[in-house]
Amino acid sequence: MREIWLAGDLACGRHVEPSARPVALPGVTTLREVLDAVDGWYPPGWAQSWDAVGLVCGDPAELVDHVVLAVDAVPATVDEAVARRALLITHHPLLLSGVHGVGADDPKGALIHRMIRCGVGHYVAHTNADVASPGVSDALADRLGLGGLRPLEAPRAGDLVRDQEDLDKLVVFAPLAATQSLIDALSAAGAGKLGDYDRCAWTTSGAGTFRPGAAATPAVGEPGRIEVVEEARIEMVLPRRLRAAVVAALRAAHPYEEPAFDLLAMAELPAVDDARGTGRVGELARPCTLREFAQHAASVLPATRWGIRVAGDPDRRVARVAVCGGSGGSLIERARRMGADVYLTADLKHHTAVEAVTERGAAGMALIDVAHWATEAPWLDQVAGLLRGRFGTTVDVAVSQVVTDPWSVHIPSSESS
Ligand SMILES: [Zn+2]
Repeated sequence: MREIWLAGDLACGRHVEPSARPVALPGVTTLREVLDAVDGWYPPGWAQSWDAVGLVCGDPAELVDHVVLAVDAVPATVDEAVARRALLITHHPLLLSGVHGVGADDPKGALIHRMIRCGVGHYVAHTNADVASPGVSDALADRLGLGGLRPLEAPRAGDLVRDQEDLDKLVVFAPLAATQSLIDALSAAGAGKLGDYDRCAWTTSGAGTFRPGAAATPAVGEPGRIEVVEEARIEMVLPRRLRAAVVAALRAAHPYEEPAFDLLAMAELPAVDDARGTGRVGELARPCTLREFAQHAASVLPATRWGIRVAGDPDRRVARVAVCGGSGGSLIERARRMGADVYLTADLKHHTAVEAVTERGAAGMALIDVAHWATEAPWLDQVAGLLRGRFGTTVDVAVSQVVTDPWSVHIPSSESS
């Protein structure tokens, strides 16, 4: 086994000369080379401003011939890295909030001490890996067998919802005096939303003409006589899934007995950005029931004591699936707007879940809550594949099999309770 620089430490289980230093052997890989590769796949600049990513400890000049991948840096995964003399790459930062010291009398400080003493480097790719393509949610979606993936939320300000959701355009003609009340009614039914704006409409005026039939009861004019009325042409976009509700609102609010309107299907726009972004939306190759999809998810995702929880009618049809590795509760509304039948993520809260599945009755979106660790562990295989592709046999890559989901016991409630 090649000698790697160690600072002489009994905790590492072997004796090392204090003066030992890495020797640049031909054909070996430095930590810097590994970092450059990982930074290329998951650029640190893509991380959220509050995040703490990159090299936690380790000398970029040291040699690396083993890498251990884990979601969390905890004693068990650090043990694995130490045993293999490996660079430990994790998804979650060990040190996220402000750190003013890493004393060994602190649990996290003790881990840092141990890694430094044993010559083990530690590197974090967190929210930068979340938004990358491929990234954390791609790995999750791939594991679930989803196709046609696109981001749930774009990495920069943009009107993703408008671009991604299937839209219709409604063009309706109404007497000028009824213009604003009609826009109000259509807006209340869900038309006219563009990104963070609502009640968006375009109006022009012109002359409408008609002749009521003998049996008609016209709001304007009388049977048998040609009428010319100054009218507004009102244009509003609407999500296609709200087509029936918006047309019903139009008929209810329009003063005419037979409103004239056009309903046009909007063409699909090209992607706003590239494939980067948080979460993914994709399609199942074969639609199934929510129960069947949940069983599939439980069988292909890493096992935890908790398993998975499902909210929604188990017999409802599932074709479009939104996913987000980690805590994705804040993206529920985006998933719904993008037409997802079910949203799979972690750490969902009671009230947000209740609202999501009951707000719109049968049109509501189902939810699947998975252990946080299990939604992100599939990403480790993605990183392993990239590292093996880049460094071949010069760097041994291992995915930790330690389950760092903290929930250790799951006791189902009794049927009678
Ligand atoms: Zn996470």
